[in-house]
Amino acid sequence: MRTRITLACTECKQRNYNTTKDKKTHPDRMEVSKYCRFCKRHTTHKETK
Ligand SMILES: [Zn+2]
Repeated sequence: MRTRITLACTECKQRNYNTTKDKKTHPDRMEVSKYCRFCKRHTTHKETK
């Protein structure tokens, strides 16, 4: 089953992405490098509740 999650930039704390993940493959909080339009560069984005 796929769960809806929100990805937030760890630098400016903006929530930039909504996505889904598989809880079986990612039981913990996901960390993804993605482009942040507020920081204007790639930053680490973390899953939030
Ligand atoms: Zn940012």
